[in-house]
Amino acid sequence: MTPDHLNSDATDPGVYRTLLESTRAIPWRIDWATMRFSYIGPQIEDLLGWKQSSWLSANDWAERIHEEDRQKTVDFCISQSQNGVDHEADYRALTSDGDYVWIRDVVHVVRRADGSVDSLVGFMFDITERKQAEDKIVQLQRELEVLSYRDSLTNVANRRMFDTLYPVEWAKARATGEPLSLVVIDIDYFKHYNDHYGHLQGDDCLRRVAQALDAGASRSRDLCARLGGEEFVLLLPATDEAAARNVAERCRKLLAQKEIPHARSGVGRLVTISMGVGTIVPGADDDAHVFLDRVDRRLYHAKSAGRDQVCAAEP
Ligand code: GH3
Ligand code: MG
Ligand code: MG
Repeated sequence: MTPDHLNSDATDPGVYRTLLESTRAIPWRIDWATMRFSYIGPQIEDLLGWKQSSWLSANDWAERIHEEDRQKTVDFCISQSQNGVDHEADYRALTSDGDYVWIRDVVHVVRRADGSVDSLVGFMFDITERKQAEDKIVQLQRELEVLSYRDSLTNVANRRMFDTLYPVEWAKARATGEPLSLVVIDIDYFKHYNDHYGHLQGDDCLRRVAQALDAGASRSRDLCARLGGEEFVLLLPATDEAAARNVAERCRKLLAQKEIPHARSGVGRLVTISMGVGTIVPGADDDAHVFLDRVDRRLYHAKSAGRDQVCAAEP
């Protein structure tokens, strides 16, 4: 049983109109046979700027949809309506002053007793703020992804980036038969450097070494990554042995030009690096980890042979 006082309100169309026209959602109704608006809430003028009386046909609606959203929105709404299916569409509606507002249009298909479509009724919701928040999240996610592949101290790529790209370049080299080179780099006597100059200056030194290495590996597919501590790697696709040795020597020279003093080095008076270099055309039996280990061992040969040098072969 419905209480009497509710019954009498419910039969008064004025109540519905007041309700409809005081919500933030904008109600509308389109007659299916003529495709003309038989109603649209007056709030539409506040939201989009177009006068209530200017909404005559479905065409006026379509023309006020952002060009990039128009075709797919219109096609979708027409086909859903023809099939008698209630639906929702998000699109950018144009405002009279040339801007746009994100709208979610929620559409109900009204049918006659015989099942034929009589009209469409719906609500337009302003979802601009939600869309802006979503866009911001997507943008932040992208930025985070970029950041998660960067070493925050030196701003070159990090180990995660190397671990991701190395297998890809390995597979590419296997497929193309092009040589792939690695250079593994370690700063000489860096513990002494830190002990003498302090950790902050140690960090600064790491940044400057990274700059030299990044500049040395200058082709677009080259990658310079910090593996951790004072150890770096250069991943050099399509690079043969001679070219890789040249890159390594260029890095050594670029660093020497920076003339970073090192009062406690066992090599000389400046900060220096030792490097292991290796080149491979990966075959079916080769393993990327084994190859990286081999190049790493060459780095330690360079260390034991006196540091500040490149080792490109087993002694
Ligand atoms: P070697 O010539 O044999 O490579 O000697 P080394 O002293 O460079 O090598 P060792 O591995 O003994 O020391 C590495 C030092 O690197 C230890 C640590 O103080 C320093 N280190 C590692 N990571 C960082 C960092 O992020 N910042 C700073 N400032 N120092 C670091
Ligand atoms: Mg080390
Ligand atoms: Mg070292």
